[in-house]
Amino acid sequence: MTNNLFQADLLDGRVALVTGGATGIGQAISRRLAQLGAKVTIASRNPTALQDACESFRRDDDLDIAWKRLDVREDGQVKMVIDEVAAAHGGLDILINNAAGNFICPTAELSPNGWRAVIDIDLNGTFYCCRHAYPYLQASQSGGRIISISTTRANTGWPGAAHAGAAKAGIQSLMRALAVEWGNDGIRANFISPGPIAGTVGVQKLYEDLGRSEEMRAQTPIGRFGEADEIANAVAYLASPAGDYITGAELAIDGGRQWNFGV
Ligand code: NAP
Repeated sequence: MTNNLFQADLLDGRVALVTGGATGIGQAISRRLAQLGAKVTIASRNPTALQDACESFRRDDDLDIAWKRLDVREDGQVKMVIDEVAAAHGGLDILINNAAGNFICPTAELSPNGWRAVIDIDLNGTFYCCRHAYPYLQASQSGGRIISISTTRANTGWPGAAHAGAAKAGIQSLMRALAVEWGNDGIRANFISPGPIAGTVGVQKLYEDLGRSEEMRAQTPIGRFGEADEIANAVAYLASPAGDYITGAELAIDGGRQWNFGV
């Protein structure tokens, strides 16, 4: 695990909402933001996972992180949760669109329901969060930040998970549009595209369970999977004042894999 490399009060007093923050990459992002002084709320569907995560943040990291139950597919719920977070903490400065769903399925066998489920969580959920966060981010004294978690597979197409690749490509386009539309409101909208990240359910399902881990490492110029903390550090950088002139940008964190076409 990468240690916290940042000044301890870097995000002091900023209010942050992390969707899907109870598990995996979202959990690492939430921990890092809170370590840097942000007031963090995590939000997703499973209350047990949310409670467990908050208990472990408190017990293992001495961090006080709040949680809200939220299905990002429900526009009304998104508005309610964002309004509640802003009311509790006096605004909202940082929105992390991390919640996502995915499954492997050849496109010829993909049902409309399967397609819709992933588009609804990833793309529509991100839009709902941005839309309801907008007035608060616009009012942010520190400068509003939207950071969406995409994937390098959005850039290449994702054979076997075309629905997820299409949803993430839509998120990337949305971030670029918001960078332009909301730049003058002081809001920065960027996205991080991870490659395979160790210790996540996705890597377990897509590579470990299928015996494909070595193949994946061999395709990655840096020769290993990424760490959730490496994504969290990139979020901290973009959320900090160092990110003030960065908007509409992609930060790919994949060990160079997306460019490895062989020699
Ligand atoms: P994960 O542990 O499965 O996290 C996904 C989170 O999204 C869960 O906490 C889940 O919580 C939440 N979620 C799912 N549906 C939701 C809904 N309808 N409403 C609210 N929350 C919902 O996966 P992860 O690997 O950490 O992935 C985090 C992000 O990184 C995702 O955007 C993923 O696409 C991206 N990514 C991951 C990798 C990787 O290698 N793992 C690579 C590239 C990109 P509940 O079940 O409680 O709702």
